[in-house]
Amino acid sequence: MASKLSAEELRHAAKYYFSPAAKAVVRDSGFTLDTAPDSVVQAAKSMLSDAVSGTKRKPVSAMHPDVLAEEVLAFPAAKIISSAIGRQELFRKFSGLIADYVSECIGKEGEAGIPDVAAELGISAEPQGNGFFLVALKDYLRSDFREKSQKLVNQAVSSGSVTLSGEGLRHLIGSVAGRELRESLEQISSRPSHAKNIPLRFMEAAKEIDAMLSATALTKFSRSDFGKAAPEAFPPCMSKLQSDLASGLNVGHTGRFAFAVFLNAIGMDVDSIVAMYRSTPNFSEKVTRYQVMGLVKRGGEGYACPSCDKMRTYALCVADCPNTVNPVQFYRREVFKNAPAPAKNRPEKRGF
Ligand code: SF4
Repeated sequence: MASKLSAEELRHAAKYYFSPAAKAVVRDSGFTLDTAPDSVVQAAKSMLSDAVSGTKRKPVSAMHPDVLAEEVLAFPAAKIISSAIGRQELFRKFSGLIADYVSECIGKEGEAGIPDVAAELGISAEPQGNGFFLVALKDYLRSDFREKSQKLVNQAVSSGSVTLSGEGLRHLIGSVAGRELRESLEQISSRPSHAKNIPLRFMEAAKEIDAMLSATALTKFSRSDFGKAAPEAFPPCMSKLQSDLASGLNVGHTGRFAFAVFLNAIGMDVDSIVAMYRSTPNFSEKVTRYQVMGLVKRGGEGYACPSCDKMRTYALCVADCPNTVNPVQFYRREVFKNAPAPAKNRPEKRGF
């Protein structure tokens, strides 16, 4: 894995995947998808496994050029594996991992080194000599900030520039790096047949990471969070909504509504339903409880769960479940399939 770069340049490349040094390592390696060493695929898998489990990556400390080059090459390999999986949830976790990693690495650069790293990402940061930097407004808007304190309305903006502390600039660079990675993954995976020529080794790694992602979403809640409900019996549409909510994705109003009324229809209590929304952005226990109470109390037993036809019109149906007209029907069939036949005239809850 010979590289023409110095050890210092290689270390820089291993920290900043968007840098010209990192691009040079990839170019000089001469590897193709078919010839990339297994160690690179393993390193990419480890990177994605950290993303899925929420484990922060430590700034690289290795000295050996081969180890550093492998770390650099793991990034494009991880992009290929992620795009083969094609799940938004993974894109968000992977880009979050990289945003935090870049931000952490910059924290070790010292104030003087930050503008150089910013420039490699096309962000112009002008030191003001007092620990603060002037950043062009257009560059600030490239971030993916979600915290209220980081929104533009809470920044010092003047004459088309934002004044940021070194800490603020460090987070901006990480956020821009993360956002650009996420958008690039979305773009790659939206190309028709993008996964067609990906070698088997990468596809096998993708399968493992995909399974890990699904398992993580299910274990996000303890079994007791579901009360008497059986999450393993959820239909695919509701499993997806549950997984998206657990991952902090911004699920639309219709999806949140459908999931809440489904949970109510299968007998989950209000506290447990509210708990399902705890990871959503800007979660408010009070507001969520009020909304859930409105849904479950309506007409005595609550709103009916939308039928599969309705779920299709909402673009929330994700599979073609045989002989199913309503997600609640799917759930009950799964729960009771190994149980004795239910007694005739069993009182039915509203739902379908
Ligand atoms: S067919 Fe019905 S139960 Fe199955 S995923 Fe679609 S909406 Fe859900």
